[in-house]
Amino acid sequence: MIKVVSESKTFLSDKVELFTESVIRDMTRQATLYGAVNLAQGFPDFPAPAEIKLAAQEAIAADINQYAITWGSKNLRNAVAKHMLEWQRIVVDPETQITVCCGSTEAMISTLLATCNQGDEIIVFEPFYENYGPDAILSGAKPRFVKLRPPSSEDGEWTFDERELRAAFHSATKAIILNTPNNPTGKVFTRTELEAIRDLCVEFNVLAITDEIYEHILYDGTQHISIASLDGMQERTVTINGMSKTFSVTGWRVGWAVAPPAITNAIRKVHDFLTVGAPAPLQEAGAVALGMQPIYYRTLAEGYRKRRDRLIPALTDAGFRCFRPRGAYYVMTDIGAFGFANDIEFTKYLVKEIGVAAVPGSSFYRDPKDGAQQVRFAFCKKDETLDEAAKRLRELRK
Ligand code: GLN
Repeated sequence: MIKVVSESKTFLSDKVELFTESVIRDMTRQATLYGAVNLAQGFPDFPAPAEIKLAAQEAIAADINQYAITWGSKNLRNAVAKHMLEWQRIVVDPETQITVCCGSTEAMISTLLATCNQGDEIIVFEPFYENYGPDAILSGAKPRFVKLRPPSSEDGEWTFDERELRAAFHSATKAIILNTPNNPTGKVFTRTELEAIRDLCVEFNVLAITDEIYEHILYDGTQHISIASLDGMQERTVTINGMSKTFSVTGWRVGWAVAPPAITNAIRKVHDFLTVGAPAPLQEAGAVALGMQPIYYRTLAEGYRKRRDRLIPALTDAGFRCFRPRGAYYVMTDIGAFGFANDIEFTKYLVKEIGVAAVPGSSFYRDPKDGAQQVRFAFCKKDETLDEAAKRLRELRK
C-alpha cells in the first residue's frame, strides 16, 4: 500500500479558481448547440478580403513556414510603424518598440505580465471587455473600476465622472486600461476625455495600456484618437492593436503591442516564452493588409454603419432599448421591458426559445447585478444573418 503524501493537495492553481471560462466564447458554443443565430461573439461571418487571403497563400507557397523573429517579422513591424505614423502621427521605431503577438489578446496579457507586480492597481472602465478581468488576476494586478454611465437617450453618449476617475488614481496605481472604440458600449473617447486621462496619468506616473482593435470602425463622424499621440503620453503608453477586426481575420491571431523600448523589452521576453511568435505567413499577409488604400477603411466603416442601422431598429421593434454605438461593432441594450429576473435568464431564453445568441451584460461588470438588465449584440454579420435574427426576435413581442 502506498501512503499518499499531501493528500489535500489540489492540482489547480488558486488563480484559475478566481475566474470562469469566457462567457462570450461559451455563447458561441451554445449558438451552435441550439442552432441559434450567433450575435454573441464578435467575429464576422462574411469573407475576409481576397487580396489578404491571397497574400497568406502566397507566403505559405513561398515557404515562409518557419518561426518569424520572435517579436515579429520585419515587414509587419515596418508596416505597423508606417500605419501609426500615417493615421495617428505617432513615430515608432519598429526595431525597438513593436512586439507582434498571437492576437491583441496575447498582446494585452503579455503587457500586463511584463508591467505589473502582485498588488499593483490597474484602473479599468466598466463595463469592460471580459478578458481584462482574468488578465488582471493572472498578472497579479488588482483592478479598480470606474463606471461608464449609459446615456439617458438612445442617441446619447456613455460618460464617466472625472472626479470618480481622479479618486481612482493614487500612488499604487500602475496602469489604466483604455479601450477605444469601446467594447461593449461603442463609446469613442473624445480628445477632451483623453486629455483628462492623460493629465492624471502624468500626475500619478501611470502607464496607459490602450486596446485600439476597433480603431477603423467608426460612425457618425467620430474620430479615433490614440492616447499615445497626446503630449506626454508616448513614453507611458502601450498601444495594442491587431488584424482581427480591421481585416476580418479573427482566426489568424495576429496582433501587436507598441511601447517605449524598455517596456517593449519586457513584453518581448514574456511573449517569447509564452508563444515564441505569431504565425509567420500570416504576419506577411498582415504587412500587405496594412498597405491597403484609405478607401478600404472607409468602406469597412460604412459597411458596419449599415449593419448597425439594420440591427438597431429590429432590436427596438422587439422591445430592447438600444444605446447607439459610435464605434466598434456591438450594441448594448437594456432588457428592462421584458421583465426577466436577470440577463442570464434572458439570454438562456433567447438562445433556446427564440434562437438568437447574445452576450449577457453581467459578463462586462465585476458585480453581475450591474449588468443584470443589459445584453450585448454583435452586428459584424451578413445582412441575411441580421435579417434572420430580426425575424426571430419579433417572436419576443408575443
Ligand atoms: N472581441 C470579441 C467579442 O467581444 C471576442 C474576441 C474573442 O473571443 N477573442 O466578442
